Amino acid sequence: MTHIDDLPVRDELRGKSPYGAPQLDVPVHLNTNENPYPLPEPLVERITERVREAARGLNRYPDRDAVELRTELAAYLRRTAGDLPLTVANVWAANGSNEVIQQLLQTFGGPGRTAIGFEPSYSMHNLIARGTSTGWISGPRNEDFTIDADAAARAITERRPDVVFITTPNNPTGTAVDAATVVRLYDAAQAARPSLVVVDEAYVEFSHHPSLLPLLAGRPNLVVSRTMSKAFGAAGLRLGYLAADPAVVDAVQLVRLPYHLSAVTQATALAALEHTDTLLGYVERLKTERDRLVTELRAMGFEVTESDANFVQFGVFEDAHRAWRTILDQGVLVRDNGVPGRLRVTAGTPSENDAFLDAVRKLTKEQS
Ligand code: PMP
Repeated sequence: MTHIDDLPVRDELRGKSPYGAPQLDVPVHLNTNENPYPLPEPLVERITERVREAARGLNRYPDRDAVELRTELAAYLRRTAGDLPLTVANVWAANGSNEVIQQLLQTFGGPGRTAIGFEPSYSMHNLIARGTSTGWISGPRNEDFTIDADAAARAITERRPDVVFITTPNNPTGTAVDAATVVRLYDAAQAARPSLVVVDEAYVEFSHHPSLLPLLAGRPNLVVSRTMSKAFGAAGLRLGYLAADPAVVDAVQLVRLPYHLSAVTQATALAALEHTDTLLGYVERLKTERDRLVTELRAMGFEVTESDANFVQFGVFEDAHRAWRTILDQGVLVRDNGVPGRLRVTAGTPSENDAFLDAVRKLTKEQS
């Protein structure tokens, strides 16, 4: 049998594994930070209408610049992040924020260039860097998983990366980064090179803190990336977007594939944006459930990382993988991200969270 390594693949891909959160058939899925609420029926109807309309024109390529969608995304950002002067020219959209990140690394990273992230953080930043031949630098984090602004700024000054990733709220830890720290790291990155600073706000709608979008003003090398996969409950849609100076939006056009965003995707995303208020109502429920998970896990004696996301990191386990397995044996799938001694659970519906808490209670009994 032929193995990958028998093929003439690029050297940096040899011996590596693809991104792979297990997709297992179990009753309760709390492992990939999805929104547990299916789309409401009126929205499903609206998607059907919009997609039917789009289907009539599928003989043609879609709007290459996704102008209507970007206009509506800009309106959403203006509405929810303090009436910023953001327009279609500031917004770019792609198939998931993973593709947004890939386009940014294709444009601002690449061979001979480097990107830094403060780990543990979202592993795809590192993997997409590899896929675009961008060197990866693992930046530091404190013991409590917050970012130490001094240490992080020092790493930027010393290593002079071309791209800086700041994930807030961070995945898998749930920790948020404050505006002062982002400004500090942006200034350090501009002094060192200058470089592009990407603030990954995939989970920001779940945060106790407001979005950092206002920092875009006067910072042309700052990008905020967002997604409809989490707060909008539309992970299956594959729609991510960014907000930045219009020059950044122009720059990513150099690498985007023509017609990358299908007419069906654009129609579906537009329908979802018409139902923003309903969808953000689910976000409020999930924030309450996230806070309940934190409280109940702490009451059981776990060490729980402060969370601003729709998931919670908890531990400390002598053998996190064994704990993961024991929880799974009770029909609840959580995530072992490889952070030593810790697991991550996504906030689900109240009954899913109850099932998780019951499974964990059993775990504490077995361990005591
Ligand atoms: N950024 C972060 C921090 C994430 O956790 C994720 C998804 N897990 C993404 C980006 C990518 O999300 P998507 O491609 O679905 O928009």
